[in-house]
Amino acid sequence: MNLEDITTVKSILSQPQNIVIIPHKNPDGDAIGSSLALHEFLAGSGHKASVISPNDFPKFLKWMPGCNTILNYERENSQAKRALEEASVVFTLDFNDLSRTGQLETPLKEKVADFIMIDHHQQPQDYAKVTYSDISMSSTCEMVYNFIEYLGAVDQITPEIATNLYTGIMTDTGSFKYRSTSSRTHRVVADLIDKGAQNMDIHQNVFDTNSPSRLHLLGVALSNMVILPEYKTAYITLSQEELDNNDFKKGDTEGFVNYGLTLEDVNFAVIFIENREEGIIKISFRSVGDFSVNQFAREHFNGGGHDNAAGGRSELSLEATLEKFNTVLESYKNALNV
Ligand code: 5GP
Ligand code: MN
Repeated sequence: MNLEDITTVKSILSQPQNIVIIPHKNPDGDAIGSSLALHEFLAGSGHKASVISPNDFPKFLKWMPGCNTILNYERENSQAKRALEEASVVFTLDFNDLSRTGQLETPLKEKVADFIMIDHHQQPQDYAKVTYSDISMSSTCEMVYNFIEYLGAVDQITPEIATNLYTGIMTDTGSFKYRSTSSRTHRVVADLIDKGAQNMDIHQNVFDTNSPSRLHLLGVALSNMVILPEYKTAYITLSQEELDNNDFKKGDTEGFVNYGLTLEDVNFAVIFIENREEGIIKISFRSVGDFSVNQFAREHFNGGGHDNAAGGRSELSLEATLEKFNTVLESYKNALNV
């Protein structure tokens, strides 16, 4: 954030405001963690704030401090609409394109308010009064820490804020191992532990609460894995039937795509997950090295994200989507074989 932005934010927050905070649809640990942390910080500074999530969030995040106050735009629609109507300031967190908010896209486009974006994805849209966008950042949670620091308020970080920020940094960095994890990330995380984040408990809450059905579903996913050595690529498919047979719950497939990358000589991993209710195939892309999955997802699968982690969708059947993927892949043979 530059000096001008900091001055603008300070001026907006210099008097009590009505604020809503919006994470992206299908929010992950970083989206929920940053939203809850900012919520508590703003509420603690005398503002009226609410978090409106476009839809539900996964069970493995449902222990996070303050998560019961989140308004689900699908389930608590009238309450959420009212909060949005009353707001004069709208924070959008962990996305940079209003289409990432699903059903909230139109109301947000029509909303007249001071928008503040905090986000680390590529190619931000230009909808905010203040755009704090930095693609070098590990996570939006690290940026919310910076945001609080810019306001000179690091001392106001409570154990609950620290826990939420720690969780988002941990999940978005693959437990502090992805390329975007910097020495600064570790310094921030160290400070969050000093401020009350219980790191071992947080890790266990997120990663060690598997259900037997999720592990069975992982077994199905791994046995469906197709390895294409000539493209250094591995992909997984899960059909709606396979999800139904294994009591699929939101969040159960989180992390499955990463298994492909643990293979020696695989630099590009993909998972295709059928969603009959929405009539789409949800796709996650991951890479190691210089192959940009953000570009790949943008060009072919109506998506985007980061260089090494992106998402997208297809409205074709699972079979036709795979056919398209295999055809498209041919033109990337050289790019994938460096
Ligand atoms: P995931 O594969 O875990 O859903 O998402 C990986 C990354 O890509 C995340 O940073 C997520 O925000 C982003 N992403 C996921 N799906 C989409 C999409 O449909 N469009 C865009 N622009 N980004 C996405
Ligand atoms: Mn993120």
